[in-house]
Amino acid sequence: MERIFWVKCPDCSGRFYADYGLRFTDVELICPFCQQSFKVADAKEIDDRWF
Ligand SMILES: [Zn+2]
Repeated sequence: MERIFWVKCPDCSGRFYADYGLRFTDVELICPFCQQSFKVADAKEIDDRWF
């Protein structure tokens, strides 16, 4: 199984997951709820757990 991590959008607090390959990069994620783009480091919450 591919590893993913969860992030919380700083704008709308929507929670979604992204490929773990992006976890420590400067790539901007795009929130699927409000289309806001933000860097992983700017996420309101980051959840790294395995499941
Ligand atoms: Zn959002």
